[in-house]
Amino acid sequence: MTDNRIALVTGANQGIGLQLAKELVANGVTVLLGSRSAEKGEAAAKDIGAGAVAIQIDVTDAASIAAAAERIRAEFGRLDLLVNNAGISNTRNGDFELAEFSNNSRASNASLQEVRAIWDTNVFGVLAVYQAMLPLLQQGVAARIVNVSSGVGSLTRNADPAFPYRSIFGPGYAASKTALNAMTLAMMIELEGTGIKVNLVSPGFTSTALNNYAGTESVEDGSREVVRVCLLGPDGATGTFTGWNNSTIPW
Ligand code: NAP
Repeated sequence: MTDNRIALVTGANQGIGLQLAKELVANGVTVLLGSRSAEKGEAAAKDIGAGAVAIQIDVTDAASIAAAAERIRAEFGRLDLLVNNAGISNTRNGDFELAEFSNNSRASNASLQEVRAIWDTNVFGVLAVYQAMLPLLQQGVAARIVNVSSGVGSLTRNADPAFPYRSIFGPGYAASKTALNAMTLAMMIELEGTGIKVNLVSPGFTSTALNNYAGTESVEDGSREVVRVCLLGPDGATGTFTGWNNSTIPW
């Protein structure tokens, strides 16, 4: 048991999740560093040091999610912060070039098998983790859920012919983030008046494995808004969708 805030961050063994875990620990939060690979999670937690605890969680595996929830219940009895960060942009395991990938991810030619796999992680995975962790958040102090989405999922932006990036809006990654935004709204509406706050955040275009390191921002800069929202205190906002520097993103 600990008096520190207790956070679970999914997909925290690399990229934005790892940066977030480091900064939460530096701010006195006990971070359950979620990783689908137990070994990678242990290595990342060891690197961060005291305050980071590796926990195996594959968001597409119901047994893994249930085991993680049970372990958190037994060892900590509550969760104060849940960060649904784990996500994939494709199923090619790093073997892709962004422009070529976008051209083959259009409504007419996207592989349905790949679209389903992306939605499984980015949409249904988040819903499954939410359902498993909600009883622990209900025991938490000033509990908050932060879902890591993307501005590329904004329907308002993409419906505007003047939006410069609308040509890359496809049924896989981008639409999965639209669906995640919808899931988040459902969580926000369900939790209104319960004291559990819910926020949606878009990192910057960050150099990580997700985009084969084509992102233009460092993990430190790209993660900054995610870190800010995760460190909001009990009076911090709920129901927001923000990006760079607390800018509001239209749903
Ligand atoms: P990343 O470096 O590829 O990290 C993704 C993390 O998610 C990895 O730890 C990965 O684990 C994990 N993951 C994937 N599938 C999982 C599963 N089934 N169960 C549990 N963990 C799983 O990418 P990132 O850029 O940091 O992405 C983090 C989040 O930010 C994602 O939700 C992404 O959509 C969002 N985002 C990123 C950008 C950007 O420019 N990078 C922009 C907007 C939004 P493995 O190491 O085992 O693969």
